[in-house]
Amino acid sequence: MVARITTFAFEGIDARPVDVQVHMAGGNQPSFTIVGLPDKAVGESRERVRAAFSAIGLALPPKRITVNLAPADLPKEGSHYDLAIALAMMAVMGIVPPDALDGHAALGELSLDGQLGQTLGVLPAAMKALELDMKLICPAVCGPEAAWAGDGNLAAPNLISLINHFSGRTPLSCPPPGELLDGPSVPDLRDVKGQDGAKRALEIAAAGGHNLLFCGPPGSGKSMLAKRLPGILPPLSARELLEVSQVQSVAGLLERGQLSRTRPFRSPHHSASMAALVGGGIKARPGEVSLAHHGILFLDELPEFSGQVLDSLRQPLEDGEVTISRANRHVKYPSRFQLVAAMNPCRCGGGPGEAACRRGPRCAEQYQARLSGPFLDRIDLFFDTPPVTAMDLTLPPPAEGTAEAVVRVFAAREMQTARYGNPDSPTQRPVNADASGTLLETYATPDEAGAALVAEAASKLHLSARAYHRVLKVARTIADLDGATGVRRIHVAEALSYRRRSPSETPGVTANALAR
Ligand SMILES: [Zn+2]
Repeated sequence: MVARITTFAFEGIDARPVDVQVHMAGGNQPSFTIVGLPDKAVGESRERVRAAFSAIGLALPPKRITVNLAPADLPKEGSHYDLAIALAMMAVMGIVPPDALDGHAALGELSLDGQLGQTLGVLPAAMKALELDMKLICPAVCGPEAAWAGDGNLAAPNLISLINHFSGRTPLSCPPPGELLDGPSVPDLRDVKGQDGAKRALEIAAAGGHNLLFCGPPGSGKSMLAKRLPGILPPLSARELLEVSQVQSVAGLLERGQLSRTRPFRSPHHSASMAALVGGGIKARPGEVSLAHHGILFLDELPEFSGQVLDSLRQPLEDGEVTISRANRHVKYPSRFQLVAAMNPCRCGGGPGEAACRRGPRCAEQYQARLSGPFLDRIDLFFDTPPVTAMDLTLPPPAEGTAEAVVRVFAAREMQTARYGNPDSPTQRPVNADASGTLLETYATPDEAGAALVAEAASKLHLSARAYHRVLKVARTIADLDGATGVRRIHVAEALSYRRRSPSETPGVTANALAR
């Protein structure tokens, strides 16, 4: 006799259905075998199921038991196969009615005493189960997470409760979805004194979805500013929230099924490995770029990251998804994030006064040369944060903070949504940063004076085609913040001030000279 139930294997955030079949046959050599490309954790399921059964007073029959996980060519990883295997065994042993498992999928790790513990990937599994018109059986602690996918799922604390449910004694249900949080409170921009120019750059980055690099001496507030960016970004849309939460579910970061509408903010340390940043490792877990999906990836001390690690960011930055190659297959995770980076001008810090660099522009040149051109090509806005003086700290709090910036950013975003269409398009963000060359030509061609300025800049500053498009994108965002339908000279001039300068160039001089 064969009993079966569905469970899921994960490929990135995709839950792929797996048919768990349990066959029991007589014979004088009792055995318990799992086939169908199981990894070590799935293989160990045997011992957990055996122990959990004995803890609730069930003995495995002295027969040849074969568990098959189909399709056989899909690798099965993790400990979440326990519950499906245990349920199918109980069906084949007649402990639950044979047809009781029809229309059910199960996901969960068993402990040796038959309890069901926290399991990764419940949200994507519940969504897939709904799509397949099935009910998902998951551990009770994951119930609030499963409930986000829809009603009708079952959250079970242990094996006994499932036996009671299927025998009709104590029906199980699923708790309501976890809380929808407005997110961890993001500090206010008002806390940052001085740095008006940097705040403006941050606001432009927020409005147009642009990648941004702050360069300035230690203590000039670069990371303070970056941490305040999620506060001025629009909250996640329903579809974005679901995608972000699925990544968090697979990574084991969803606590008590609580979802947050604040955009993720991830700030990995510069010693982070490539696997930590882009994902991978033995289990092909999502990396920081995927945990920052629809949010912000903040890289502090940018040149201190290894060049190889930074270059590995180019594909996710370009494609909005990251491919992790494994021995026998590829795993994809979404990674449409906004990059904000910060760096000191040179290795010694390059602060004002006493902390000033004594090795001249050479030091800065060498330090900044650690960043490759193709990587820097992905960054739209460059801003040099000036040192904060003691005088700045005695200033009264700034008149404007997060609340004021939010109004302007949201208005600018609305103009872009109207222009680029559906905000829930799965492929592109409706922001200027993602606009194609054709769209830029339609929407960001400057007026005559602006066009003359761009042309002059292009020849004097030797702008590449990519740099030229970048200036247009940023100018379009500045015009949007201005509420202007057309891009004018003043917008172009400001956009030009955010281009990258070589360390020997005095900040702002060229652009200002051009704007005059
Ligand atoms: Zn130096």
